Amino acid sequence: MLDSYAACRRTRTEIATSTIRSRGRSRTQKPASAGPRSELERAMTSSELLAEVPVVYLAAAAAAFGLCIGSFLNAAIYRLPLHVSVSKPRSFCPHCRATIQWYRNIPVVSYIMLGGRCGECKEPISIRYPLVELAVAAVFGVSVWRWGLSWSSLTAIVFACSMLLLALIDADHRILPNVVTLPGILVGLALSFVNPRVLWWDAMVGAVLGGGLLYLVAWIYLKVRGQEGMGMGDVKMIAMIGAFIGWKGALLTIFLGSLIGSLVGIVLIAIKGRDWDYALPFGTFLALAAVIVDWFGGELLTWYWGLFPSL
Ligand SMILES: [Zn+2]
Repeated sequence: MLDSYAACRRTRTEIATSTIRSRGRSRTQKPASAGPRSELERAMTSSELLAEVPVVYLAAAAAAFGLCIGSFLNAAIYRLPLHVSVSKPRSFCPHCRATIQWYRNIPVVSYIMLGGRCGECKEPISIRYPLVELAVAAVFGVSVWRWGLSWSSLTAIVFACSMLLLALIDADHRILPNVVTLPGILVGLALSFVNPRVLWWDAMVGAVLGGGLLYLVAWIYLKVRGQEGMGMGDVKMIAMIGAFIGWKGALLTIFLGSLIGSLVGIVLIAIKGRDWDYALPFGTFLALAAVIVDWFGGELLTWYWGLFPSL
């Protein structure tokens, strides 16, 4: 019964977490009839105990934790471009600068309780704050549900949160801060050694090839048009993306990001009458594409090659 449950969960999460796998191994290794077990044998290690918790509870706990990280991310999106410390001062209202009391700083809940307004000055608070919190909660919950408590899910979470941070900062200010992208490259490379979804050399090639390719495009654009079409921020960002998801992922991200950006650009020109030189936040589209590729890249490539059955 327990074994069939574990097997069922293993197929559902596809990639079994290392904790579940190690539990399966340790059980088969135990002698079948060893008589009454000692207290020591019966005592489970904390990781074994954690593996007994149904994955849906772990995912729910991760999502709740994600709400708090989302709240922190909101502060980082607002503060990083302004060069304000992310940790000090405590949360404040961007309108009246009043410090937000802890009981009014509960993710999503406070927003609903206060009717989307600041508790002090009653100015409306952007709906983006609770949306970011919910998005980060979803990232945490779905990652743990899909990959369990593993390096795979930790990497997916760090990557998606960094992409959300860069996407919104680029949308707000048209900048991609070095303070995110440069450490991001190093973190991506470091995680490639423990993340089973990417090989370390693939991460290295991804960072160099992705960044190099975009640098070339930026250079050609500058020579041909005589103006800067793409900033160095985009180059560093795609290097970071390559470090996290490998060279194929980086190329697919550039392709998909350009496609999404072009479609949005065309829609803006058609509907809002923007002209061709209206600067779109390319980093925002890259971020969206990168997360899509990280989560569904395999399925996307299968679908794409399926379009050419003769090959
Ligand atoms: Zn206020």
